[in-house]
Amino acid sequence: MAAPHDDNTSNKPAASNFLRSVIERDLEAGAYAARHDPAAIRTRFPPEPNGYLHIGHAKSIWLNFSLAQEYGGVCHLRFDDTNPEKEEQEYVDGIVEAVKWLGWDWQAHGKSHLFYASNYFDFMYRAAEALVSAGLAYVDEQTPEQMRANRGDFSRPGVDSPFRSRSPEENVARLREMREGQHPDGAMVLRAKIDMASPNINLRDPALYRIKHATHHNTGDTWCIYPMYTFAHPIEDALEHITHSICTLEFEDQRPFYDWLLDNLAKLGLLEAPLPKQYEFARLNLTYVITSKRKLRQLVEEGHVTGWDDPRMPTLVGLRRRGYTPEALKLFCERSGVSKAGGWIDYSNLDIALRDDLDPKAARAMAVLDPLKLRLTNWDEVIGAGQTLPCDAPVHPAQPERGRRAFSLGPEVWIEREDFQAVPPKGYHRLSPGAVVRLKYGYVVRCTGHTADADGTVTEVQAELIPDTRSGTPGADSVKTKGVISWVGAHDALAAEVRLYDRLFAVPHPGEGELAAELNPDSKRVVQAYLEPSLRGAAPESRFQFERHGYFVADLQDHSAEQPVFNKVTGLKDTWAK
Ligand code: ATP
Ligand code: MG
Repeated sequence: MAAPHDDNTSNKPAASNFLRSVIERDLEAGAYAARHDPAAIRTRFPPEPNGYLHIGHAKSIWLNFSLAQEYGGVCHLRFDDTNPEKEEQEYVDGIVEAVKWLGWDWQAHGKSHLFYASNYFDFMYRAAEALVSAGLAYVDEQTPEQMRANRGDFSRPGVDSPFRSRSPEENVARLREMREGQHPDGAMVLRAKIDMASPNINLRDPALYRIKHATHHNTGDTWCIYPMYTFAHPIEDALEHITHSICTLEFEDQRPFYDWLLDNLAKLGLLEAPLPKQYEFARLNLTYVITSKRKLRQLVEEGHVTGWDDPRMPTLVGLRRRGYTPEALKLFCERSGVSKAGGWIDYSNLDIALRDDLDPKAARAMAVLDPLKLRLTNWDEVIGAGQTLPCDAPVHPAQPERGRRAFSLGPEVWIEREDFQAVPPKGYHRLSPGAVVRLKYGYVVRCTGHTADADGTVTEVQAELIPDTRSGTPGADSVKTKGVISWVGAHDALAAEVRLYDRLFAVPHPGEGELAAELNPDSKRVVQAYLEPSLRGAAPESRFQFERHGYFVADLQDHSAEQPVFNKVTGLKDTWAK
């Protein structure tokens, strides 16, 4: 599903969506007014700290934080760290940084709203005992295989576990044994007692707690039982007084259990109404991009990329290094909308948002990415031996107030190899024997010859300056030219490494087959380029439009004044559309 960009271009008020309607309805009805909460609504972004965030998370972050902002609410950043095994501090730090980079924070009403689900383990355990005592949960000692077989499927109801009819007292005793570490991993689980014949398989006595003798990054060895996500998540929302718990469509079938759990805990006096409600929207799928942490980790571990922050990765650290801006990502999220219908968004939409953001911001510069030497043979007679000619150009053609950039023309310049053809094809307007072209912002030159090596590769082009044609002087256009070419002076060019990136995957829906086989073999090409001297001293992460080539960024990690490194963000035009 390609989102057409021309019917939702910038400057329009944010499009309405079903979540806004829900929130407006709730606010109007005063659904949460009795709480006297200074926040009108509460949303949350609840990542599991088991990897770096990706573009799909950016959508969820944008949605939750912007809705809270728009309606006078607060959005919580909550680490859903209930799984002891895969979580690490490195990921917690990375997620905090990514959300900040996107421009959001969780300070409101003089408080931080950063939370850890693992801080609620005590409450969760009390809730579990309360359910057991009320006959709403039981300890099941069936083997995992028996449990699977007895769950049934879409066409077959499940079969009650033989342990389902144990008394609450017996179940409480077993649960305490689980907690005290008397049983090995997998020996038993705590399950809700709902309905083994429910048409919704998620209501067939879902697991609430499992035994896992593992050290947790926050709680250490305090626990050897851990809550299941489906049990933990509603409780986390309720304890934080979330009003609108927004998740992706995969969780739609979990909503009845979400409500069952919170309603029962409220009846047992453990929670207070009004309770949070869950709403689902379609996850973001972007063509040519993987949005699964597990598969992104595989790319890193198998060495297909240099790390989570490889500029080809759709992680936020990767997109940042590639040169994408938080503003462009926000624009993209807004334009891609919020709906209940899934589908694929064409990657070109991300680049359209990027260009819309960068075009007015990025300073212009000339760059030669595939350099070929052009020698101006009459320089000494026309200009003078040892002289160079100062030239200038606007920093931004539409913003004269940003001033001009300075560079100079000398007897030898670098031009793009593709700007010379010894035997020009028809309609070729650049350099070829006898042809007259303008060196942009400089002089008109006439090509007089070229030199090639034994293989026929051109090693140098020669030309003559045509006097009195200097750009910006009277009569400069007395000699008509069909072509204008970009260049940088050999005497003042900045030599730089330029990394030319392209899509990481060659297939539009990667992840359906073997990842390694779906990769684009030409996703990265490194060239030694010559750049306009105005780029000397560019700070890491500063972005430019290299005239005719596209948008480039000084690499966040590797760029320095001594060893400049620029990454290609994207071209000037869409080359993706089929
Ligand atoms: P992954 O499969 O990549 O691990 P996840 O959904 O398991 O993703 P979480 O850390 O649990 O990752 O996600 C945090 C939040 O981000 C969740 O609310 C989830 O719904 C949301 N999210 C994840 N991927 C997308 C996506 N592609 N589009 C929109 N929201 C997403
Ligand atoms: Mg997850």
